[in-house]
Amino acid sequence: MGTTVGIVGLGLIGGSLGLDLRSQGYRVIGVSRKRQTCQTAVLRKVADEASIHLSQLATAEVIFICTPIRAIAPTIAALLPHLSPEAIVTDVGSVKTPIVEAIMPWCPNFLGGHPMAGTESQGIDAAQRNLFVNTPYVLTPVESTSTRAIAQLEEIIGAIGARLYFCSPQQHDRAVAWISHLPLLASAGLIESCLGEEEEEVLQLAQQFAGSGFRDTSRVGGGNPELGVEIARSNREEILRSLSRYRQNLDGLITAIEQEDWQKLAAILQHTESERKKFVARSC
Ligand code: NAP
Repeated sequence: MGTTVGIVGLGLIGGSLGLDLRSQGYRVIGVSRKRQTCQTAVLRKVADEASIHLSQLATAEVIFICTPIRAIAPTIAALLPHLSPEAIVTDVGSVKTPIVEAIMPWCPNFLGGHPMAGTESQGIDAAQRNLFVNTPYVLTPVESTSTRAIAQLEEIIGAIGARLYFCSPQQHDRAVAWISHLPLLASAGLIESCLGEEEEEVLQLAQQFAGSGFRDTSRVGGGNPELGVEIARSNREEILRSLSRYRQNLDGLITAIEQEDWQKLAAILQHTESERKKFVARSC
């Protein structure tokens, strides 16, 4: 029989992971907060069995903690007494440094992870197959991480079709501030700005005219608000750094337009046109 994988938190990420792992021959035991979610998980074939009790995971060899960020460390603390000493524990939290620093001292078999895939939806009903195919999956080992834990997770992440990367928790948090957390907040700022239009008729027209450009740039600002707040709380410094740089760049654009410095504006837009292509090409 294949490896038994435990998943705690059967929502968008945990549920999608369960669907793919089961289809790859893993035995999946799910644990979630609500009974109804556990029933849905079994019906939707997210898990072979599911329960609201962490003790259900006693036979799991690898456990993915897929709860909201604030529940990750307390969940692992409550889970440890039920596990075999060899069991490997990982998480999928969008921020790594505070989680790894909180857990490593008392859970040496923990290896932080972050699948860089998602949608704007949440909960078990949002779980979907192949969510992780060809998307980055970051593992953040530290000096004491065992090669066994890395090898085991490497195999599972390969099975769901994700592209594996390794870096330190600190590098992870700084990098994702640029490409994930800043876009989320910039996009939220964009939506708020647009909704601030004072003339009702103009606002309605804007809504009717909104096409793919607005849909693309506002997409990540229209996601799970609870997750956005958790991310900002747990990656505060890096987010402030990236937002400040963003504000400087916005000021640069405002100044160029105020001063009718079209050459300056053209130079900025030529630079972003050519660099975006290279930046995005490197991420595929
Ligand atoms: P989600 O859809 O809201 O799923 C989380 C699920 O965890 C909830 O549906 C809830 O299920 C369950 N849960 C909540 N508290 C729990 C607890 N104390 N014990 C057990 N289960 C609990 O959220 P998500 O988007 O999957 O995010 C989960 C994690 O993935 C977060 O740490 C997030 O940082 C990370 N992540 C998210 C994305 C994304 O784009 N969404 C991408 C990468 C990583 P019930 O209450 O229904 O039982």
